[in-house]
Amino acid sequence: MTALYFGDYWDVPALHGAIRHLTPFGVPCLYCEHPIEDDDRGFMRPVFTTSDRGAEFRPAHRGCDLAAVMGHHYGVCRCTGYEDLWACNVALEERGVFKLADRIGARRYN
Ligand SMILES: [Zn+2]
Ligand SMILES: [Zn+2]
Repeated sequence: MTALYFGDYWDVPALHGAIRHLTPFGVPCLYCEHPIEDDDRGFMRPVFTTSDRGAEFRPAHRGCDLAAVMGHHYGVCRCTGYEDLWACNVALEERGVFKLADRIGARRYN
C-alpha cells in the first residue's frame, strides 16, 4: 500500500513514492494521543475499526511511529525509562535523528 505522510517532506525510504496528505491539525496521534500541530510531520496509518467503514486513517508523529517499531534500537523504550511514546517522539526530534533527512528533503521538494 502507498504510504501517506503529512508535513514537509523528509528523505527516508518510507517516503519514497509516498503521497502527501493534508496535515490533520488537531487530530490526536495514534500512539501518544497528543493533537497534531501545524509543523508536525508524520504518517497517516490505517487503523481497523469495528464500524462498517472497516479502516480509517489516523495520524502518527514520525517520532512516535519510529519509536513504536525501533524504539529499543534508538534507546527510547521501557528499557531506558521511556514510558510513553510522546516522550520518545520529543527525544528523537531533539536528538535530531531526522535532521539529515529533513535537509535532503528540503533541498528536493521545498
Ligand atoms: Zn505521537
Ligand atoms: Zn528496549
